[in-house]
Amino acid sequence: MSDLVLRNGLVAGRRLDVAIRDGRIHRVAANVDPTGSETVDVADKLVLPGFVESHIHPDKAFIADRTRGLEAGGPTAQTLVAELKKAFTVDDIYRRARRVLELAVRHGCTAMRAHVEVDGYVELRGVEALRRLQAEFNGVLDLKLIAFAQEGIFNDGVTRDLLREALKSGLEVLGGCPYMDRDQRRHIDWCFDIAVAFGVPLDFHADVADDPTLLTCDYIAEQTIARGLEGRVTLGHLCTLDVLEPDHRARVIDRLREARISVISLPATEMHVKARGDLRRTWRGVTRLGELRAAGVNVAISTNNIVNPFTPYGHPDLLRQALVAAIAGHLGNLDQLGWLLELVTTNAARAIGLQDYGLAEGCRADLVVLDARDPAQAITEQAEKLWVIKAGRVVARSSRTSQILTP
Ligand SMILES: [Zn+2]
Repeated sequence: MSDLVLRNGLVAGRRLDVAIRDGRIHRVAANVDPTGSETVDVADKLVLPGFVESHIHPDKAFIADRTRGLEAGGPTAQTLVAELKKAFTVDDIYRRARRVLELAVRHGCTAMRAHVEVDGYVELRGVEALRRLQAEFNGVLDLKLIAFAQEGIFNDGVTRDLLREALKSGLEVLGGCPYMDRDQRRHIDWCFDIAVAFGVPLDFHADVADDPTLLTCDYIAEQTIARGLEGRVTLGHLCTLDVLEPDHRARVIDRLREARISVISLPATEMHVKARGDLRRTWRGVTRLGELRAAGVNVAISTNNIVNPFTPYGHPDLLRQALVAAIAGHLGNLDQLGWLLELVTTNAARAIGLQDYGLAEGCRADLVVLDARDPAQAITEQAEKLWVIKAGRVVARSSRTSQILTP
């Protein structure tokens, strides 16, 4: 007997039932016997494993109303937020981050890996707020936390100790930001040393510039292999890949694959932030999603920023990010729309090391049911998320319908 049976779902193009027991999928088959189980008839709707936010910043969300935002020739988003976060309190961060998590769940997200800034401005206040939320969302959303060096590591005398303290307190990942230090390689080396010492994976914000001489992902790949950390390193952004000569780019992508580095593209932020002062053309800055995927690199997309100077219209809805990526990356053919949702589900799960993720029997019953028959329709119509299921329990249900009213 099952605890819950989703009846008549579309699973990889077939009409199947998904039977759930003890928080896990125990059968995926046609005509499962529902006797004694709670049932939900999902009536030919698309069933996917829950969306996974692999790169997101709840601690600096919902602060667009505290700043004028970006202007050509004005301060960068980093500078604007650095000023604002001096005044962040634990409660302020908690309230804004909580809204991010709630919106994410309502939009089908069942797992999230979030960056938490740790530096001389905000110290460990973000860590305290996000740790509280991590406990409170237990059973609704799996939340992993990254101790993130947004302000660089060598620009003050306290950040290194604060990052160590954050990892000691239980944060699961170390997050680097090499372009915020004058010597990028020194920053990268320090991160690798600390990650090895604490036995944690690494996640870098890397290569955001349009200047090929600033490229670091090749060095990060080299260090990943040298230190035997293949499969434990993730890179966000990688905008610079877009401006390399094709031969050079192909060699770098080969190295990323060899190092088993996952790449997380953040298209909404790139398109808002890049080329602000360029009078000739507006570089969009999105990494080469199709090329990376075709070369066998694990590629994901994520929301990154929510209602702040980096992305004032950011929203933790991964179906929206799939559409943004389609627009930004020339990914509109039916086969491309078909695999785009892998970038917010299975690939994102692999990037952050989720175990037992997917629609196979034995996987954790983390699911989203969309008001669509296939991924292309889901992306194009920005389909409603009808049911969100976490560990076998319905955690969000949308019944919003609209109809044309005839006279
Ligand atoms: Zn980010």
